[in-house]
Amino acid sequence: MTLGEIDKKSYKDIWVIAEILGDVVQPVTWELLGAGRGLAEKRECNLTCIMLGTGVAKLAEPAIRYGADSVIVVDHQDLSTFIEETWAAVLARLIEEKKPETILAPGTLRGRSLTPRLAVLSGSGAGADCTALDIDSDSGDLSVTRPVYGGNKTATVALGGSRPQLCTLRHRIFDPLEADGSRSGDVTTFHLKTSDVATGKRVLQEVNEEGVEIKLSDANFIISGGRGMRGPEGFSLLQNLAHTVNGAVGASRAAVDAGWIAYPHQVGQTGKTVQTRVYIACGISGQVQHLVGMQSSDFIIAINKDPDAPIMKLADVAIVGDLFEVLPEITKRLAQESVG
Ligand code: FAD
Repeated sequence: MTLGEIDKKSYKDIWVIAEILGDVVQPVTWELLGAGRGLAEKRECNLTCIMLGTGVAKLAEPAIRYGADSVIVVDHQDLSTFIEETWAAVLARLIEEKKPETILAPGTLRGRSLTPRLAVLSGSGAGADCTALDIDSDSGDLSVTRPVYGGNKTATVALGGSRPQLCTLRHRIFDPLEADGSRSGDVTTFHLKTSDVATGKRVLQEVNEEGVEIKLSDANFIISGGRGMRGPEGFSLLQNLAHTVNGAVGASRAAVDAGWIAYPHQVGQTGKTVQTRVYIACGISGQVQHLVGMQSSDFIIAINKDPDAPIMKLADVAIVGDLFEVLPEITKRLAQESVG
């Protein structure tokens, strides 16, 4: 569709695509609703939460409390597992019928996989990994801010040339609203035809992320190891510390590629993006591909025997030393504090 053909006025409302894993609406959904509420108020339009899955109707109510004016539930047995093509096709049909002006998706694996597909299917563009949003109250044109050049700069991108305007939002950047039990809103069901969910793909088995006790994206404390950990045994030191502080273990790609720890733990450009309260990098040099995945953390501690390693410049606290001496000491002291 060319620019001139878009009748922008026929599109309205802000949508948030909920992230639901198992029977649990993930907290990132409330963050998106917080961001969407601000846009909806500026545009004086509705904020709608879209929930896809099997048996998700019962999860709709909290979305209203967290700021949605309405919820559209798409509940179908064939949506019990996430198959990108099916979910994108279903959402594209919903978009075609309802014509939302703006769609906010979570910057999760699902959101990052769905959004470009939706952009193609709906003939529009998409902004990825956004950290700030602004909307023109008259035209509804959205501009998004996102990191570029490995996080060294930010770019503000105008998405207003197409409808709907799609973007994924980075986790833990936007504040959720306080849940408000006095809010009310509509919950409606969108009924699918069999052809909407027809796909050549079938999920045969789902396997949980091996050994990831606390998900990196939800952790307030992440302790990551790199090539300096020397082997899988080194990671048991990190597990001990993570256990002491109820945190999660992360890793550089070098450690993952060496087979010392599984891929779900990888932080960085080709792994997970985290924004945690405290990030401890042990034996990680801090190449840009690692930094983009963790540099937005609130407080960064680096332990490295090389004072000139790039991570040491980024860190709030840089400890120059052998991690095999420093880590057990930190773990011991934290354990004493938690006992005391
Ligand atoms: P190294 O760079 O080898 O650093 C090891 C560090 O350990 C050194 O600084 C050393 O001084 C220190 N050290 C050694 N022994 C000790 C000790 N006893 N005590 C204290 N310190 C010690 N990397 C990622 O992490 N995540 C990604 O998602 C990612 N994606 C990539 C995508 C692409 C397209 C490419 C090209 C690369 C990507 N990489 C990624 C790889 C990245 O460029 C680096 O190679 C990698 O991050 C290096 O890992 P490292 O810091 O563990 O290892």
